[in-house]
Order: sequence, then C-alpha cells, then structure tokens
Amino acid sequence: MDTLPHDQAQLLEQLLALHEASPQLLAVFDERDVLRYATPAFRAAFHTAPDGQTTWLMMMRANALAARGSVVSNPDLEAWLAAAASRRGKLPFRAFEADLADGRWIWMSETLLPSGWMYCSASDITALKTRGRALRQERDRALRAAQSDAMTGLSNRAHVLQLLDEQLQRLREQPRARLAVVLLDLDRFKQINDGLGHEAGDRVLCDFARQLQLSTRRGDACGRLGGEEFMLLLADVEAPQGLLIVERLLQRLREARPLAEHPMLAYSASAGLTPARPGDSAREVYQRADRALYQAKAAGRARCCVLAAEAA
Ligand code: GH3
Ligand code: MG
Ligand code: MG
Repeated sequence: MDTLPHDQAQLLEQLLALHEASPQLLAVFDERDVLRYATPAFRAAFHTAPDGQTTWLMMMRANALAARGSVVSNPDLEAWLAAAASRRGKLPFRAFEADLADGRWIWMSETLLPSGWMYCSASDITALKTRGRALRQERDRALRAAQSDAMTGLSNRAHVLQLLDEQLQRLREQPRARLAVVLLDLDRFKQINDGLGHEAGDRVLCDFARQLQLSTRRGDACGRLGGEEFMLLLADVEAPQGLLIVERLLQRLREARPLAEHPMLAYSASAGLTPARPGDSAREVYQRADRALYQAKAAGRARCCVLAAEAA
C-alpha cells in the first residue's frame, strides 16, 4: 500500500470520476453476477443500470429479446445464453471480440477476483476493424492492378506468363490435364495506327481484347503480352478443339466493326497454336507458338496455324 497516495478515499473518488468520464465500456459484477457498477458507455450499450438486482443473464436476455447489446449468433437464444454463461467467470482473466447489435465491434476483457467479483472492460474496435478491411480491399485492388493491363483490362504480360507457368505445372502433375497455348497478333496494325491515329488504334485493341475475352471459358486465361500481341491459354483442350475455338474468335473478328465513326473498318488477327507437353518449359511453348504464328503471317494472315510439339 506504500505506493498508493496517502488519501485512499481520494483515489477511489477520482477512480470513479475517471470511470464515469471514460468512453470505455466498464462494469463490475458481484459474486452472484449482479451488476454493481457500469460506466455511461456500458449502460448505453447494454441499456441497463445497476439496480442491485439485474444479473448478467437478465441483462443479456433482455437485450437479446430487444435486438440490442451483443449480437446473438444462435437462433436458439437460451442455448446461446447457456453457452455464453458456461464460458463466463471460469478464468482469472479472458479477453474476446464481440459484435454489438448497433454495428460496433468491441474487445471485451473479464478480470475475476477469487471473491467472485468481476471487472469487465470493453474497447470499441470498430475503427480498427474497418481500417483492417479497407487495407485488405486496398491490397486486393493493388494486386489486381499489378496483374492487369491498364488499357484492355486483360492480364498483363507478367501475369499471363505466370498463369502459363501454373498451367504447365498442372500439366506435369495431372496426367489427364491438357493445355493449348495460342499467340495472337493483329494484322497490319501499323496501317490502322498510321491511317486513323493511335487513339483509334487503341480502341481497336480494346475491341480485340473484348472479343478475346468472349472466347475464354472459366478455366482459360488471356492476356496482353505487349503492343498488339496477346496470349490465350486454353485449359484441357486438344489441338483440334483449340483450333475450333480460335477460328470462332477469328470469325467474330471478321464481323467486328470496332470504330463507330468508321463503320467500314474491319480488322483481323493471326494466331499460332501449339499443344503444351508435360515436359515443356514456358520458353519452349512460347517459341513454338511464335513459330506457328509466323507461319500464319507468312501464309497470308487472318488465320491460325498449329504446330505440334513433335514438329518443333
Ligand atoms: P503484321 O501483320 O505483320 O503483324 O503487321 P503489323 O503492322 O501489325 O506489325 P508491326 O509489328 O510492324 O506493327 C505493330 C504496331 O502496333 C506498331 C505499333 O505502333 C503498334 N502498337 C503497339 N502498341 C500499341 C498500342 O498500345 N496502341 C496502339 N494504338 N498501337 C500500338
Ligand atoms: Mg501485328
Ligand atoms: Mg506484333
């Protein structure tokens, strides 16, 4: 007691005044679990005041029935109260998170004396939780942005190559897995830029990206490698089926008129397709698809050539 101020009565008086002034949710329960003291914040949150009779259980039940106080996570209120009561007052100290019906989150701690008296202290952690969620959303947004091509919204080069690596890994691990890798390049794109301007060229690229996206199913992926070059990863298709998918895309491109102010303007793309084999590195399939693409360009463009792994 040496360290206490000389006048203990003064200390208790000040302690009480401080509690009354505090925004913390503080309460004291006696050994029969009757509420003996509660700060204004506690009284407001649990719509209660010490009256010498109200127990913790009465307080919790009344609040739950009025959809106030703590959120009751069990449709069976009595079962929920029984479970909460069974955890209460068993340890000298415990702390836990709880959500209130008014939308706030609190961090509640309970300190128990051997006499059975209990001190409850809760801090409002809503702001912390909200900030945590905002940070997680921000991180997800940043991650998506880091993986996306800003102009077309497709995966960017780094991301589509990462997806290619993942697909090749899947091929090595799953004997029944298949993968067709397609490189696509817009035909005579420089002419569109030179004739109509770079901005119009950008809109043609965006139109192409949309058409490409329409060709992909959930397990597929597509991305912009750079400039007017794109990659399409077709999961679990053999080369002939992959060729059909790409030819459908090329047909869609033939029908596309991407610029409203130039309703006659059409464009096309060339494609090189190669089936990936389990031992393939990303570099090997990329090079093979590139050779197939070169063949398509050399053969007159607006078509898809296929290069089997054995032919490489
Ligand atoms: P080819 O059929 O042989 O592929 O002919 P091409 O004109 O498409 O080929 P080339 O590689 O010579 O030209 C590609 C053009 O793509 C050149 C470049 O100005 C243009 N380009 C690259 N990136 C962009 C872009 O982001 N926006 C626009 N508008 N043009 C781009
Ligand atoms: Mg081109
Ligand atoms: Mg090119």
